[in-house]
Amino acid sequence: MRSTPPAVSPSDPLPEGRLEPGLYIVAGPIGNLEDLSPRAARFLRQADLVACEDTRVTAKLLRAAGSDRPMLAYHDHSPAEVEEKLLARMAHAAVALVSDAGTPLVSDPGMELVRAARDRGIAVTTAPGPSAAIAALSISGLPSDRFLFAGFLPAKAAARDKAIAGLAGVPATLIFYESGPRLAATLVALARAFGPRQAAVARELTKRHEEYVGGALDELAARFAGEEPKGEIVLLVGPPAAEVSSAEALDQALKAALQTLPAGKAAASVAAALGVPRGEVYARALELKGGQ
Ligand code: SAM
Repeated sequence: MRSTPPAVSPSDPLPEGRLEPGLYIVAGPIGNLEDLSPRAARFLRQADLVACEDTRVTAKLLRAAGSDRPMLAYHDHSPAEVEEKLLARMAHAAVALVSDAGTPLVSDPGMELVRAARDRGIAVTTAPGPSAAIAALSISGLPSDRFLFAGFLPAKAAARDKAIAGLAGVPATLIFYESGPRLAATLVALARAFGPRQAAVARELTKRHEEYVGGALDELAARFAGEEPKGEIVLLVGPPAAEVSSAEALDQALKAALQTLPAGKAAASVAAALGVPRGEVYARALELKGGQ
């Protein structure tokens, strides 16, 4: 039984033809068809079957990719027979999985299917691409060395507030998916629980009405009060202040030490001074040196 993915090198694309049997997780655009990668498009043309959330949405994607492959609707709550049918096909045919937008399995169906495929030794291959969470993080300027994707918060206020409280101490940038009608209330709840942390609302990324609004949580709560912005939204919240300032303090101390010491010695002296693990400081010293 083969468990390694088929060898597909982006620098040496296979000629058009059949794909090796298996499951292909194919990322699609998050609103702009130009973001569909050539490799993802080729997988969609070469797959024997395309599993998707909504066949009407995916029909447009397949047209853009020049694919005439058949589709089958699939989601995590599909009847067991649908999953079984897909797994049976993968044993001798290529099944691509796409979602309505972005990367499958990121707040989208697919986890059960990938797990079942792996349990059966079926090859699972990725054509990576856009995801709204990473797209938003990448334009935010918020700390991106550590982040936590928290998906959608619960809809009911009590459960939402409990989930928010559980994230308060996480020393990382938090990434949420949110809807226009709930945005204002979520910002108020976040500002109440987290105080004036830096945050951002990224809306309709890659689309015509793309919008980015950054600021402290309380400012954003005031800015969006009473509004129900249209379209799709990613909400980012920076880490607790201590994390930002300790990262800044580390960088400051390292930059000063690196002016007179080699990376190893600078790391040792700063690690001792700030009580931070030496390996962590050394890695950061190398990053800072590399960026000079
Ligand atoms: N799998 C997708 C991904 O990789 O980003 C996410 C699917 S999830 C069901 C849909 C949510 O993602 C939307 O409600 C919104 O919060 C976010 N989203 C998707 N596209 C977006 C866009 N273009 N701009 C901002 N947020 C987006």
